[in-house]
Order: sequence, then structure tokens, then C-alpha cells
Amino acid sequence: MATDNAKSLPTGHYVTNDPLHQLFDAIDSISVQGYDEQRQVTYWNKGSEILYGYTKQEAMGKRLESLIIPEPMQEPVIKAHSDWVTLGIEIPAAELTLSHKDGSEVAVFSSHVMLTNQYNAKQMYCIDIDLSDVHKAQAEATLNASMLQTIFEAIPDLFFVLDHHGTITDYHASNKNDLYISPEQFVGKKMVDVLPDKVAQMFKLNIEKALTYNEMVNFEYELSMPDGTSYYEARMRLLPKKNQIMMIIRDITDHHRSAELIRHQAHFDSLTALPNRFLSLDRLSQMLGSVKSKHEKAAVFFLDLDNFKKVNDSLGHEVGDKLLIEAACRLKNVLEQGDTIGRLGGDEFIILISNLNDESNAKAITERLLNAFRKPFRLEGRELILTLSIGIAMSPKDGTSASELLRNSDTAMYQAKALGRNTSSFFTPQMNTAMQRRFEIEEQMRGALAKSEFEVYYQPQIDVQTNTLIGAEALLRWHNNKLGAITPDEFIPIAEQTGLIIPIGEFVMKQALLFLKRWQATNKQKYTMAVNLSPSQFRDPELLDMIIHSLNENNINHECLELEITEGVLMNSQDSIPDALKRIGELGIKLSMDDFGTGYSSLSYLRQYSFDVLKIDRSFISVITDNKANCNLVKAAIAMSHSLEIEVVAEGVETKEQLDLLNALDCDIAQGFYLSKPLPAEQMIAFSLE
Ligand code: C2E
Ligand code: CA
Ligand code: CA
Repeated sequence: MATDNAKSLPTGHYVTNDPLHQLFDAIDSISVQGYDEQRQVTYWNKGSEILYGYTKQEAMGKRLESLIIPEPMQEPVIKAHSDWVTLGIEIPAAELTLSHKDGSEVAVFSSHVMLTNQYNAKQMYCIDIDLSDVHKAQAEATLNASMLQTIFEAIPDLFFVLDHHGTITDYHASNKNDLYISPEQFVGKKMVDVLPDKVAQMFKLNIEKALTYNEMVNFEYELSMPDGTSYYEARMRLLPKKNQIMMIIRDITDHHRSAELIRHQAHFDSLTALPNRFLSLDRLSQMLGSVKSKHEKAAVFFLDLDNFKKVNDSLGHEVGDKLLIEAACRLKNVLEQGDTIGRLGGDEFIILISNLNDESNAKAITERLLNAFRKPFRLEGRELILTLSIGIAMSPKDGTSASELLRNSDTAMYQAKALGRNTSSFFTPQMNTAMQRRFEIEEQMRGALAKSEFEVYYQPQIDVQTNTLIGAEALLRWHNNKLGAITPDEFIPIAEQTGLIIPIGEFVMKQALLFLKRWQATNKQKYTMAVNLSPSQFRDPELLDMIIHSLNENNINHECLELEITEGVLMNSQDSIPDALKRIGELGIKLSMDDFGTGYSSLSYLRQYSFDVLKIDRSFISVITDNKANCNLVKAAIAMSHSLEIEVVAEGVETKEQLDLLNALDCDIAQGFYLSKPLPAEQMIAFSLE
């Protein structure tokens, strides 16, 4: 047997100078072990020392299996070796895991060679290539692949791989429901062939771009999916060298919705869901642009709810809010498709209507809007009547720009308010002059008290029956160089609205009582002084204290002061008013109902509060001598007042006939130009009836 042959040879002789060994010695990246038929090591190169840790000296003569073959493999290895030697069955090259001297595993690709040397002995070589780097790289590749897989699964994005023709070659989708169509329908097809036209076109352009420019291309698109429209962002890039496009599709529907929500909040009023001021004015500009090009007419309606502030103050904001919602709803119902309604803020709304033939169309719409408010609002068991005032500006007649039309419709709305509310008013250029005057008055009024521009005049009042002077009404005058002649009828309402009536009213009260003290002292008469109070003066909690203080300071009997109030005060919803009126009575100060007959519910108020005086409005007195009916009306008012123990003053007596008739009708007091115009203090002191 060859074994014997080999055995018989001296070991040194057996290996030296073998040219193969010289070659193996020079390569240390490959491990080469030579062994004999007993598997005893006969050769051990540098590469084996490095790979397995045994030095040549340690290895030589040892059986291979005791060095590098792990225990479980020893038996099969021995068997394979013997089959090889005896039966010539070659041991195939294979990947194996062998053992290092320190016990660690060594992965190798092992090949086997059998040579017969010049002594006819069999020399076997095992050539091992270290696989640890290869394995590491493989492991990394596997890890990378599984990492990629995990990423694909974890990320909700869709991934597509396209070839340079745009054909889908592969895809990843963690949730198949996210796909527009099933994979069988798109794999192997062109992306542009499976998507709706509009989206396909976008893909086509962007794929071309990605192919041409070799840079990241991204764009957004929308698709209608089973549960509504979804929004997507696509990113794609050419994979260098591969001529493939990697595409990532992200569902941005949520993001899109929140962006949409923010846009919505910036443009719509959260309470009524109507376009807000910002969007309304934008729509107005748009509408003007389009009517201009079509040579059409358009109308801007400026709406303001009447007395809404009162409702809000007295019933609370919650009721106010509900009222606004309901009001918005009613207005919307009047409109037609294509009309715009928006909330400008507070209780102001705007309506834009284009394509109008003329003003009469706008008038008809106005009527419908006003009508929509005829029915009472039912809120929390209450019934409320709410009216609105409407100002209308037409384009192009009243302006061609949004700001001009808004301003002019607003001005017209103020006019509607001035006409008594619950009505509408078309803009006229004269209104602007009125507005300018109003602003001028407001501006001038701010410094007027400090500049001593105000003066109180006094209009005498006489006892009709005895024809004697009994007192006067204090009436305010304003001397302002810039404004020229200006009457209280013009400036008092503005003082009311701006709140300036409070310091001005205090000035009148103090002046009038100071004057009364002097007048009474000079003439030794117990004259009365009537002073007008405006509704908003009751908003001042100091009002009564101020009056009492003034009375006391001048040492004036409380019953010499008469406070004139109008229905406006009584109809005001301020809670404090009934108490204030009651206290006025308790203090012995007289209460006078001014302008009687101009309102409609005065009679019930007369009973409700303890009025001492009733002033019949000038409009009744001026016609009293015209006919019997007019005369009877005044006669009835006087009789009714007397039955309630209320004194009657006839206002605006301008003729002797009127005075005589009033005398006959048993009227108590008269006041008017026939007796005297309102006089400055000095003239009033000097005034006498003779
Ligand atoms: P009023 O309280 O009804 O005052 C009577 C107005 O009628 C006064 O107008 C007076 O000058 C005018 N008048 C008196 N007799 C005649 C007459 O025979 N014929 C005509 N045509 N008019 C006559 P005036 O002073 O212009 O005041 C207008 C209104 O302004 C007053 O109406 C009153 O409501 C308000 N007012 C005047 N002064 C004050 C004030 O100090 N405080 C408040 N809150 N209101 C005032
Ligand atoms: Ca008065
Ligand atoms: Ca009056």
C-alpha cells in the first residue's frame, strides 16, 4: 500500500525542495496543509499558521483532525479521506467551518489535491481559502437586504422601481390597500398606462425629467380612492449605472387636510361658517374684475343688525352667537347660487351680487332680505324680533374699487339707520358729504369742552293759566368756528355715540343749576330748571351722585330740577335704568317725559314710572289750530295726564292762537318761540313777560 511506502521514507526527505512548497510558502493568504495517508501533517505553510494559529513546528506530524477538524466532523472527514485514498472517491471542494487553535471557528473554502511524488508516495494537500471576509460581506448583504425589507414594511410609503422606459419592474407596499390598483395590474406595465390621464401626464413629464437630469424629482398629485380623494407626493431618482428609476410615493392626505383646515380658518368665520372679512373683500375684488370685463352691474349690500349690541349685553353672548348663526342662515336662504355672503365682523354682513340689470333688482333683493327678518327668532324659549339696516352701493355707478364700494355701502347703511332702522338705503354722493361732516364734528367735539365752546341757553316756560314765568329748559349751544352753525339735533346724537355726552351732560347740569341758583336769588322766585338727559348718560354710574352733588352745592331744592327723558331712555335695555328712574322719584327730583307722541309706547311708560311732567311734542302743537281732530288729540293727552296727576307742557308754541287754545284745553305750561327763543344766561335773567 502506498501508505507503507510513504511511511518508509524519512520525513525530511519527503518534503524538502519540493517546488510546490516553495510556491505555497510564498503565498500566505491561502492556507495549504500537506498530509499523508495517515492524515499526519507533512507540510504547513505560513498561510496555515495565520489562519489556524498553529506554528509549523506545532503542526508537523500531528494528525490533521486533531488540529483543525471540529469534533463532530472528525468521523466523516476520516471516512471521506479513507474513501479517497482507497477507493479514489474525491473529496469535493466545499465550504467548511473548521477550528482555530484558540477554539474559534474558521470558515474556509476547502479544496483537496492528491499528488504522487517521485518516491511514489501519495501527497495530499488541503488548500483552504479564508471565507471570513466573504461571509462578513455576505452577512452584511443579507442584513442590508433584511434591513431594507424591514424599512419597506415599517414605512407607509410606496416604492416602485421603473426601468428607463417607465415600466414598473418591482414595487414594495407595506399595505396593499394603499395601492391604486392591484400589483397584477401594474407590474410589467408602464406607470403612465395605469393611472388616470391627468396624473399620468404628470408622471410622464417627471419621469423624463428624472431620466434627463439625474437628480431628485418630486411633485404632488391627487387620486380618487375608495374613501375619498387622497393626496400624494412622488419623489423619484435615476439609480446611477442601473438605468432604473427608484420612486417613492408618500400619502400626504392628512398633511393636505390640515393645511386645508388652516386655509379654511384664515378665510372663513368660525361662528357662521361664512367667508370672513378677508375672503369677502377678496371675492368683492374678483367680482369687480369680472363685471368690469363683462360690462355688468353689481351691487354691494352692507348689512348691520339693529340693536344687536343690546341683545348681546342683556341676553348674553351665547344667545347673541346663536342669533348671529340664525341670522346668517336666513340671509343665505334669500340668496341664489353665485351670490356671495360674508361676515365682516360683529353683526355686520356683506352680500355681493353681480349680473344685475338695474337698481330695481337690488331693491327687490333688499325687500327679500328685510322680509326674512319679519318672523321672530325663537331662542331658548324666547321670541325675539331682530331687524336689520341695509346700505347698497352699485358698481360701476358708486365705485369701481372694492374699498370704495365697501365704504359707500357702509355710508348708505348708516343712512338706513338714521332713517329709523329696519330699512335700506341706496348710496348717494350727498351721503359722503354727510359722513365727512360727521367725522369733522366728532373731531371738533373732542376739544370743545376744554376750549369753552359750549354755552347753555335757557328757554322760558310760562304757566298758561296765570301767564307767569315759572322756569326754563336748559338747551345746549356750541360755538365752533370751523363747523359754523351747528344745532344740538346734529351734534347731540354724535356726542351720544362717542360717549362725549357724559362730560358734556355734566357741564350742562352744573351750568344750569349754577344759573338757577343765581336766577332764583335775583328774582326771588322758585323757578324750575328742566335739563335733558340722553340714554347713554344713564350708563354713567356716577350720574345721580353728580346731580345730587350739584343740587347740594348750589343749595337748590330737589323739586326745582326736572329731568327730561325721551322714550329712547325707557326703551334702552340697560338694567340700571328702572332703578335710576325710581331713585330720581325718591329724591324728589321731577321726571319729565319729553317729545310725547313721537314714539309709540309712551302711554304704558307713563303708568310704569312716576312721571311728573309730560311734554307734548312740537309736531302736535304746530297743527293744533288746523282742525278739530288735531285739537282733540291734544285735548285727550292733557285730560289723560291730569287723570294721572301729571302736569302738561306744550312745546313749540309759536302763535297767540295756539297759546289761547292751549289755555282753553286746560294745558298747564307752555314753551315756544311765541314766548321766547332760548336765551343766553344774562338775557334770561333780564327776561320778563311784559
Ligand atoms: P328738545 O328737548 O325737544 O328741545 C326743544 C327744542 O325745540 C329746542 O331745540 C328748542 O330750541 C326748540 N324750540 C323751542 N320752541 C320752539 C318753537 O316754538 N318752534 C320751533 N321750531 N322750535 C322750538 P334745540 O335747542 O335745537 O335742541 C334740540 C334738541 O337737542 C332738544 O330737543 C334736545 O333733545 C337736544 N338737546 C338740547 N340740549 C341738550 C342737552 O343739554 N342735553 C341733551 N341730552 N339734549 C339736548
Ligand atoms: Ca327737552
Ligand atoms: Ca321736546
